[in-house]
Amino acid sequence: MMKLKTTHDANDDFSKKADKMDGKLFTHNLGYPRIGEQRELKKATEAYWNGKISRAELETTGRTLRAAHWAKQKAAGIDLIPCNDFSFYDQVLGLTCLVGNVPPRFEWDCEMVDLDTYFQIARGTGRPGCEHGCSTHGGTFASEMTKWFDTNYHYIVPELRLDTKFRLSSTKIFDELEEAQSLGINAKPVLIGPVTYLTLGKAQEDFDPHTLLDPLVAVYEEILRRLKVLGVEWVQLDEPVLAFDLSDRQLNALKTAYARLAKVGPKMMVATYFGPLRENLPHFLELPVAALHYDAVRGAEDLDRLFTRFPEHKILSLGVVDGRNIWKNDFDSSLAVLDRARKAVGEERLWIAPSCSLQHSPITLKNEPGLDPEFRSWLAFADEKLAEVVALSALTPEALEENRAALASRNQSPRIHDPKVKTRLAAVQNADFERSAPFAQRRKLQREKLKLPSFPTTTIGSFPQTAEIRTARAKWKRGEMQPAAYEAFIKGAIRECVAFQDSIGIDLPVHGEFERNDMVEYFGEQLSGFAFTKNGWVQSYGTRYVKPPILFGDVSRPHPMTVHWSEFAQTLTERPMKGMLTGPVTILQWSFVRDDQPRSETAWQIALAIRDEVIDLEKAGIAAIQIDEPALREGLPLRHADWEHYLDWAVKAFRLCACGVCDDTQIHTHMCYSEFNDIITAIAALDADVITIETSRSNMELLDAFVDFAYPNEIGPGVWDIHSPRVPGVEEMENLLRKAKAVIPPENLWVNPDCGLKTRGWEEVKPALRNMAQAACNLRV
Ligand code: GLN
Ligand code: ZN
Repeated sequence: MMKLKTTHDANDDFSKKADKMDGKLFTHNLGYPRIGEQRELKKATEAYWNGKISRAELETTGRTLRAAHWAKQKAAGIDLIPCNDFSFYDQVLGLTCLVGNVPPRFEWDCEMVDLDTYFQIARGTGRPGCEHGCSTHGGTFASEMTKWFDTNYHYIVPELRLDTKFRLSSTKIFDELEEAQSLGINAKPVLIGPVTYLTLGKAQEDFDPHTLLDPLVAVYEEILRRLKVLGVEWVQLDEPVLAFDLSDRQLNALKTAYARLAKVGPKMMVATYFGPLRENLPHFLELPVAALHYDAVRGAEDLDRLFTRFPEHKILSLGVVDGRNIWKNDFDSSLAVLDRARKAVGEERLWIAPSCSLQHSPITLKNEPGLDPEFRSWLAFADEKLAEVVALSALTPEALEENRAALASRNQSPRIHDPKVKTRLAAVQNADFERSAPFAQRRKLQREKLKLPSFPTTTIGSFPQTAEIRTARAKWKRGEMQPAAYEAFIKGAIRECVAFQDSIGIDLPVHGEFERNDMVEYFGEQLSGFAFTKNGWVQSYGTRYVKPPILFGDVSRPHPMTVHWSEFAQTLTERPMKGMLTGPVTILQWSFVRDDQPRSETAWQIALAIRDEVIDLEKAGIAAIQIDEPALREGLPLRHADWEHYLDWAVKAFRLCACGVCDDTQIHTHMCYSEFNDIITAIAALDADVITIETSRSNMELLDAFVDFAYPNEIGPGVWDIHSPRVPGVEEMENLLRKAKAVIPPENLWVNPDCGLKTRGWEEVKPALRNMAQAACNLRV
């Protein structure tokens, strides 16, 4: 390990050193995935929840995983290794417990927050068997969960109150440090910074959470002092909030917090990631800390400014290896960035790291024997990324050659580049984004064709995915069930589902989506340009992990994907059948996406493939087609300034899918939320004939955006909260509809649940839908 100088010797001539470039750069990591190569953490945590293993056994799993992760990083050659990046559920929740911010409803009054209280905040408390932990079951509800910046990771939202008192309430960070030290690890404790914590928290009453900064920082001071006593040299404080639009208040908070924290404790690195800093850059550079970490992948646009303004005396940690994606690093371009950095700050003040914590990346390619050597050579998961960091820190000609060869193969591979797809996209015309007639005319034609009653009823698409269905699919996939038998089985499920909808009078039935495991995977598996891993799990929240598809190449549709099922379903009923598709933005958003072309281009390629499916459904006699875009909102960039560009291509991607049909074909879309205030113009610009959204939980209040905007097309505000096992009564749904009818033109109103029914059981679905159909009937008289 190279000897580090942390205070700059003014006489050093850094530019001279930069020319030499012979030293190895110092390497570190910001965070390692904690879930385990075989999802050990999930298995142990769930076993603990179910009373199958003891707390001591769970703790042992944690300890074993941490030790293995540290050992791996050390063996890879990482000089400074993170600790406290481990978490049984969520790192934000870990911080909540560290600073003693347990919401009062959990009635916690001990000195330290124990693991069970920690889990209770995440999951609620209730009588055994109540999955929600709700007050009706004698417990209390969990804290809210929301997305961590623009990742697919969800954190437990800190609850902030006027009278919130912080105090040091957990020894986890110290214990794990000592654990690492005892294993001979050069460990760097990692913590989310105070300003990010307050920004991500939610005020539970009307007050400014920044008033809590002082007492919060006091606890950080105590933590840092103690870490110093324990012999820590470096501590990393993450302030990804710097990638947001920040108010003066937030910028001031950063200034005051770090002015205080810099005075106590070990040397401090403030880490920012997920985006360029733009106008926040000077504030970042001014922080009075010893080292600054910058995401050179997402923040590339600010690198010049970063290099020219980078203060003397500070260490610059450059995140050149993308922690958010699965592609092999391009050593030539990383070297070019590092070269500029060397010239700007000198070799001794330059560190190298992944761009952000590796928790957003799958763990290792080692467990992917199914990927062929060529495809595998294009990829890097967490372990491979660490190897890249180390390789880049002192690059050998051999490593560079190997990297160039892999990149060249990816650049030129016919598996990735399909001239037909590129030509087709290049030929797209403005007219391809437009229906032929405006909504008012289309509506007339659709009414004549569909002959639906007023307040038509429909569902969002999926019906219960029972254990029986999952088992059959698993058997078929393993080759233990013949394709013909599987087909017959799924058709049986569709038949029952359509018969049920007919029996209760659902006006626009669906086939039930029994053939689908997942709304993205199902399409990815059938489209060209997608690959799937066996063990590429990434934590989504708590013990829920996802295995996103890898969208690696030009996308096309070799054959129809859903037509067969919808066509069959249509033969079973006189009523019009609604076809069900996933939209391009959602497919993009829930996959690992190629980095060799803009996201917009990839989205439009997917859109053209879906457009083909829409047209084929129409040809097969399907008169209403729903294109789900639940991820449209979550694709919004972190900075407002970037919204317009995103919304423009995202809306066009949807229109490209939808606009190939005749005017009498009805296009639906669905979104699983209702916060549309800031994007209602874009929602209207989708020009879907019908949109179904979630509203039941907010008692229709969230319809406001549509009312204020005078949303022109038809709309189905959900009347049944499908996230809860409760079956709503006729009157309850009727009341919701009457509320909606008072503000939305009644002729525009549809009747439907909040979302798909795949996670519910038939015992809830049957009475609830029956009640829903009755509520619609009651409205018609
Ligand atoms: N059609 C999908 C379903 O019903 C929609 C799911 C979603 O929007 N998340 O399951
Ligand atoms: Zn939904």
